[in-house]
Amino acid sequence: MNLSGWRRLNVGVVGGGIGGMSVGIALRRAGHDVTIYERSDFAGEVGASVSCAANGTRWLHEWGVDIAKGDPVVLKKLINRDWKTGEPVSVYDLEDYEARWGYVYNMFHRQYMHAMLKDSALGEEGEGRPAKLVVNHKCRDINMSTNTITFQNGVVAQHDLIVGADGIGSAVRGILGIRPDKRPSDSSCLHANVSTEEAVKLGLVDYSRDSALEYWGGQEGKWDKIVLSPCNGGKLLSYYCFFPREQGDYSTQAWGAEDRPVEELLKPYPALDRQVLGHLAIGKEIQPWRLWVHDPYPYIHQGRVCLLGDAGHPMMPHQSQGACMAIEDAAALGILFNRQYFNGDIAQALAVYEEVRLPRVTRVQAAAAKAAYNINERIGFSFNKDTPTYKVEDPKKVLTIEEMNAYDMYRDIEEKLAAKRGSLYAEKFICGLPVGLELPSGVIIGAA
Ligand SMILES: Cc1cc2nc3c(=O)[nH]c(=O)nc-3n(C[C@H](O)[C@H](O)[C@H](O)COP(=O)(O)OP(=O)(O)OC[C@H]3O[C@@H](n4cnc5c(N)ncnc54)[C@H](O)[C@@H]3O)c2cc1C
Repeated sequence: MNLSGWRRLNVGVVGGGIGGMSVGIALRRAGHDVTIYERSDFAGEVGASVSCAANGTRWLHEWGVDIAKGDPVVLKKLINRDWKTGEPVSVYDLEDYEARWGYVYNMFHRQYMHAMLKDSALGEEGEGRPAKLVVNHKCRDINMSTNTITFQNGVVAQHDLIVGADGIGSAVRGILGIRPDKRPSDSSCLHANVSTEEAVKLGLVDYSRDSALEYWGGQEGKWDKIVLSPCNGGKLLSYYCFFPREQGDYSTQAWGAEDRPVEELLKPYPALDRQVLGHLAIGKEIQPWRLWVHDPYPYIHQGRVCLLGDAGHPMMPHQSQGACMAIEDAAALGILFNRQYFNGDIAQALAVYEEVRLPRVTRVQAAAAKAAYNINERIGFSFNKDTPTYKVEDPKKVLTIEEMNAYDMYRDIEEKLAAKRGSLYAEKFICGLPVGLELPSGVIIGAA
């Protein structure tokens, strides 16, 4: 497809988080002028890990992002441990991960990841004109007929295209008329940071050596689960500690308030493996992570405004795909508005954006909710069917690593654009999945 009609757009992005910076990179590379409006000045950024599986990492490579700046840990395994003994119960080896999928599974510290993306979006180097960042601009309203954003400080800005990347509490979503169906999760989460050096000095296990995403519990339908992710080259261990909400309700507390006492972190876990409990006992910056379950939204665009990332599809953290899905959204917009595919019709491009993104994010959202209380539903562990504790709700519906990583977004977009434009699509992919791929349901893509 090589279409005339491409024109440079003046794009306004509301929100300068992971998704906002990503779409800044993708759209500047596609030739557009991008301004990112952020309500804060990033002073209160979240100090926790963020994982980026191959389906996210591939776009960082395509965009020429300097990944070393993010100081990632490249994951080698997913390990599920017994709650009491700490012995491995299920291990998913990532040894052949890069060979199979072309990209590694990175674990970043969120602040480093954000800085890495920001440099790529705003830096002089790289394709296209650098995006502009305007901080302390909180979106208050958007006039949908004039495509004008009004900020709380009184500034008004008009754009050809507006991307709402303003996170889980999105203002843009409300302006588009979406009223989320949401409820507090049945589980609560406290996050703590542990210094590897301090743990080792105290004679505790050096978990950083595993270069693994490690889980204690998460079996038998229980909410209790400890998730450990090493970041900053292994110097920092980021712990997500889940427990039933009746043991501590943080559903209305925002991240960034005063740190919680360590006793509160340890209280729900009297029977937990002593080694990991020793780590938690030296946990710092203990913060509640407010967990709300959102049902999928009916749409993610209207007029010349679209949603991206958590604004359009907040999800439970249990598939570690929130950031990856925001990056994939950004990639979709970068493709749809590039010189090869964009013919000047913004409405058509956004309609295809929604058609491509909603089914995929909805599938991940549903799988993330299930993995909250059953780790066997988590991508990777969903492959370990021979594990004695393996049990899933419906084997035909589990989300597999193949579905996540064999997906080809270019082909998906080409197929949907061809349908809109009445042109021929002859690639051996359906909805971005290669013909011949067998899904857990037994369906083989492309089989009659
Ligand atoms: C503690 C924690 C751990 C996480 N761990 C993982 C993980 O391991 N793996 C993973 O994939 N995901 C993880 N996530 C989720 C992941 O961080 C999000 O899914 C991802 O950041 C989504 O990006 P986003 O740009 O949509 O939202 P954010 O990154 O939250 O960015 C939204 C931005 O919009 C700004 N904003 C909000 N309202 C306005 C407004 N009205 N006007 C202007 N700006 C506004 C905010 O200040 C913020 O900077 C984690 C999240 C948290 C909180």
